[in-house]
Amino acid sequence: MSGRIRKAVQAMNPYVPGEQPRAAGIVKLNTNENPYPPSPRVADVLEGFDASDLNTYPNPDCAELRQRIAELHGVDVEQVIVGNGSDELLALCTRAFVEDDGAVGAFDLTYSLYPVLADIRAVQFRTVPLGEGFQWLLPDETTFSLFFLANPNAPTGMGFAIEDVRMLCERVSGVVVIDEAYVDFADGDCLSLVSEFDNVIVTRTLSKAYSLAGLRLGYAIGCRELIAALMTIKDSYNVNRLTQDLALAALSDVEHMRENCERICKTRRRIHAELSDMGFEVFESQANFLWVKPPRVDAQELFEDLRKAAIVVRYFPGEQTGSYLRISVGTDQEMNAFLDAVRDVLVEDAYKG
Ligand code: PMP
Repeated sequence: MSGRIRKAVQAMNPYVPGEQPRAAGIVKLNTNENPYPPSPRVADVLEGFDASDLNTYPNPDCAELRQRIAELHGVDVEQVIVGNGSDELLALCTRAFVEDDGAVGAFDLTYSLYPVLADIRAVQFRTVPLGEGFQWLLPDETTFSLFFLANPNAPTGMGFAIEDVRMLCERVSGVVVIDEAYVDFADGDCLSLVSEFDNVIVTRTLSKAYSLAGLRLGYAIGCRELIAALMTIKDSYNVNRLTQDLALAALSDVEHMRENCERICKTRRRIHAELSDMGFEVFESQANFLWVKPPRVDAQELFEDLRKAAIVVRYFPGEQTGSYLRISVGTDQEMNAFLDAVRDVLVEDAYKG
């Protein structure tokens, strides 16, 4: 191997994103995207965008966008940073808050990007177990420079109670990042912990609830000191001009986002009930996806059979995850196609059996 590449990089496994199939007619339920279009105000701004404005750099501090986010959440603008997706902000946290001999922590199971970010920094990554059925369990050991907590959690979709999260924030010695990528589909959030603790950062994204995964815009809210540290190390122009304008348009129409989320939650409840009736084990989801264990058939087999029927869901191989599938909630029409295909596979399997 080339001596020019850092050993840590040579040794690491990259993050594996869900596939983005291009073929027409595929029902895509594998990357937790929002099936509904973003606010029409986004299209309006896009239409009116003057390409000749691209000759100059964008506002490096995203001043207007941060101001809007601050207003939306009732915090000061100095408490807000925006990034190229919330993934960028998570990466910045590993660069700002973890010394070379520090440790990053997270639950097992959670978002699979966290260990990758620790690997890039070549710092220790330690997981703490969840309880039975992926439920909350307060970690015994809390000496972390940085602890990533996805709430709702991924890929299970399960929400953790704010009282439990508060206890974790009290105990962790370093910074706790509460990753609220899916929070708009949940019954509650943990943003208030930012004003209770000076070691807490909450991250959000426009990728899910706002239907703008392709735009790449995330933001983080925390105390001024932590946010100032992230602002210090970010790339000067980490959010491009077009994204700043379109994100501002989306955030001026929260109503549209809420309506879409309500539709998705309604569909989620229906699919939860229907899959349960078919004998699936379905976990209580607070997100725009469901974590399920199929009856009788192997999860991987069902994944492959659905793929043949042009329905793509997410399968994570491995001892802990290999018996489950993660199903993103699409439109009602997409979910009906999914349910029909599942029924076909189960019926066929019953004949085989
Ligand atoms: N956090 C979690 C838990 C996620 O599942 C995702 C989506 N893969 C993200 C963050 C990243 O979101 P973004 O598109 O804002 O980078």
